[in-house]
Amino acid sequence: MRNFEFHRPQSVADAVTLLKGNDAAKLLAGGQSLIPILKLDLAQPSDLVSLAGVPGLKEIRSEGNDLVIGALVTHDEVANSPEVKKRIPGLASLAGGIGDAQIRNRGTIGGSLAHADPAADYPAAALALGATIVTDRRSIAADDYFTGLFSTALAPDEIITAVRFPVPERSAYAKFPHPASKYAVVGVMVAKGAGGVRVAVTGAGSKAFRLPALEASLSENFASRAASAVDVAPGDLRTGGEASPEYLAHLVKVMAKRAIEACQ
Ligand SMILES: Cc1cc2nc3c(=O)[nH]c(=O)nc-3n(C[C@H](O)[C@H](O)[C@H](O)COP(=O)(O)OP(=O)(O)OC[C@H]3O[C@@H](n4cnc5c(N)ncnc54)[C@H](O)[C@@H]3O)c2cc1C
Repeated sequence: MRNFEFHRPQSVADAVTLLKGNDAAKLLAGGQSLIPILKLDLAQPSDLVSLAGVPGLKEIRSEGNDLVIGALVTHDEVANSPEVKKRIPGLASLAGGIGDAQIRNRGTIGGSLAHADPAADYPAAALALGATIVTDRRSIAADDYFTGLFSTALAPDEIITAVRFPVPERSAYAKFPHPASKYAVVGVMVAKGAGGVRVAVTGAGSKAFRLPALEASLSENFASRAASAVDVAPGDLRTGGEASPEYLAHLVKVMAKRAIEACQ
């Protein structure tokens, strides 16, 4: 790990000022992705801008039919929040399955969505629940947010402040976890709500993606057999990992079936 300047701004505006015009500055939230990257010398930021002293980013609140979760809320806080458990139990359960207790105690929802690991769990939730990523300057629909492998629509100096989830009628997440890291080899989130049925997959591609064919068939008949019938093309899935594209395609169907059944 190289030396860096450490900053602890007291507001989002001050954090943005520290990032602006300095491409070598990096925001630090829970550090559960960034610190391993620094230890492996895969990034050499000149400045780390910690969000730890910024107030107002750790709140979970209901606003009408939306559940709004602050960017600095940890995975453990999401998993154990009475509000999240009551309004979107599928999301609480997803957060409770991230990594291990140490990761859940430090890692944040904002950090996870900013990092956009293709095997992370929250991207599936954001897409399936039709979430909005709220930043210091705008709101980005989840459908427009994930742009590629570890890539998002965020500008280099843009800070996620909260994530807004419309509360669905029902939702559930099923994941086939990597046995060591618990990252998703494949994870599928299914949600049924005012916006219709949405199904999102993580782990199987270079970024999380939706399954429109399964969404259409579940909109007609919300039954788990739809998952077995859906066509998941192995050619669209990732290669070179611990699982072949054919195996990943099979897992997508199995996890989708489990998520649909858990919704019922
Ligand atoms: C062993 C291990 C197992 C794991 N298992 C899982 C798993 O099963 N499922 C899973 O989903 N994840 C898993 N993770 C990742 C974990 O969830 C991380 O917490 C998460 O990816 C990053 O969140 P963080 O708060 O730690 O962000 P940090 O590491 O602090 O930051 C990550 C990146 O996001 C940027 N960033 C942070 N906050 C913001 C913000 N508010 N706005 C804009 N940019 C920001 C940082 O600049 C950095 O580039 C695992 C990690 C490890 C080390």
